[in-house]
Amino acid sequence: MGYKEPAPIVDHENPFESMMSRFKIASEALGLDDEVYNVLKSPAKQVTVSLPVTMDDGSIRVFEGHRVIHSTILGPSKGGVRFDPGVNINEVKALAAWMTWKCAVVDIPYGGAKGGVCCNPREMSSGERERLTRAYTQSMIEIFGPDRDIPAPDMGTGPREMAWMMDAYSRTQGMTVNSVVTGKPLVLGGSLGRTEATGRGVMVSALAAMGKLKINPYKATGAVQGFGNVGSYAALLLEERGMKIVAISDISGAYYNKEGIDIQKAITYRENNNGSLEGLEGAEKINGDELLAMEVDVLIPAAMEDVITIKNVADIKARLIVEGANGPTSAKADKIINEKGIIVVPDILANAGGVTVSYFEWVQNRLGYKWTAERVNRRSDRIMKDAFETVYKTSIEYSVPMRIAAYIVAIDKVAKTYKYRGGY
Ligand code: NAD
Repeated sequence: MGYKEPAPIVDHENPFESMMSRFKIASEALGLDDEVYNVLKSPAKQVTVSLPVTMDDGSIRVFEGHRVIHSTILGPSKGGVRFDPGVNINEVKALAAWMTWKCAVVDIPYGGAKGGVCCNPREMSSGERERLTRAYTQSMIEIFGPDRDIPAPDMGTGPREMAWMMDAYSRTQGMTVNSVVTGKPLVLGGSLGRTEATGRGVMVSALAAMGKLKINPYKATGAVQGFGNVGSYAALLLEERGMKIVAISDISGAYYNKEGIDIQKAITYRENNNGSLEGLEGAEKINGDELLAMEVDVLIPAAMEDVITIKNVADIKARLIVEGANGPTSAKADKIINEKGIIVVPDILANAGGVTVSYFEWVQNRLGYKWTAERVNRRSDRIMKDAFETVYKTSIEYSVPMRIAAYIVAIDKVAKTYKYRGGY
C-alpha cells in the first residue's frame, strides 16, 4: 500500500494519458487486481458515426461523431456531448472515463460516457446545428435512453441542443421522454439550480478545504482563471462568503485589483459587453500567466484543460488549488505541486456539482415533479460536502494527495460493484 510517485511519463501529455497515469497510481495504491484493472482501463463501448447534414447552401457535409461509454457498472452512463473542431476519439475516451470516476466520487448511480462531433458550431447557422444535432441523436438511438445512456451539454452545446436531442429521441418513441437528456431549458424539465451548480460545488469544496487548512474565508484571497459558467459563479459565491477575489480572467486577459474585484459588477459588465471582460473598470489588466502565479490563498482554474503544466508549475504560489475545469493540471505537474505542499481539490471532486444537479434533473423528470432551488442546493451541497470528507479521509488513510484519493474512492466503488455484479 502507500503512495508511489508516478514514473516520469513521456514528454507529451494528452487527456487520456493524464487520466490513465492517475488511474494506474490509484489502482496500485488500492491493490486493485489485474482483472478489474483490465476491465476499467478501456471503454465498454465506442461508436463512431458519419453524419451527412444538408448545409444552408444546399451542399451536404459529412461530420464525424463519437459516443464512448466507458462504464455502466454503477448505472446508466452519463456524459456531455461536445461540438468542437478538436474532437477526436482519444479525447472522448478520456473524458468518458473521467465521468465514471466523477459520478462514483459523488456517489450517484451513473456510469460514465462522453460524446462529440468534430465541427465548428461558431461557423454554423442555427438550422445547421439543429440538423446536425438531430442527425447525431438519430444515429445514437440504440445507445441513448433514460435507463441506458443520458447525454448532457459540453463545450459547444447547451440547452438549445439538449432540447433538439430530447425532441429527436422522443419522436422515435412516440411519447415525450424528457429524462433522456439533462441540461434542458427549464420549460422542458430542466432543473432549477443547474446553471450555477458546478460553480456552487467549487465553492463548497473550496470552503471545505479551507476549513481543513484553517484558512478563514474572510481573510483569504482568491484568483479565478476563466469567467464563464463555472468560474463566474464560483467567484461570486465565494465572494458572498467573505473571500476577496483579487484576480479574474477570460480569453481577453486577466484583471487584478488587490482590494478585491466586485464580482457581481464584473458579471453585469460581461453580460453587457458581448460576454467579454475586455475593458473591465476598477481593475488593472495583467497577463494570464501572472494570474496563475499570483500569491493568493486559493487558485481556481476554471477555463480549460492543461493550464498548469511542467512549464509553469514552479511559479505557482497559491496554498490551495480548486479545479473548476476538467483536467487543468497535467499529470506531470502533479509531482511538483505535491513537493511544494500545495493542496489540490481535484476536478473529479471539485466540479462534480454539475453532474450531481444533472442527476437531480433526471430524478425530477422521472418523478414528474419539480424541486425548489432551495431543495436542489441543499441536497447538492450535502453530496459535495460528504464526497469531500470521504476523499479527505482517504487521502490521510493512504497518505496520498487528494487527487489520488479521489481516484481511489471512485475506483474502489466501481471495482466493488463490478465484483458483486460479476462478469462472464
Ligand atoms: P465557459 O465556456 O462558460 O467558460 C470558459 C471561460 O474560460 C470563458 O470565460 C473563457 O473566456 C475563458 N477562457 C478560455 N480560454 C482561456 C484562457 N486561455 N485563459 C483564461 N480564460 C480562458 O465554460 P464552462 O462551462 O465555465 O467550463 C469551464 C471548464 O469547466 C471546462 O474545463 C469544463 O469542461 C469544466 N466543467 C464545466 C461544467 C459545467 O457545468 N459547465 C461542469 C464540469 C466541468
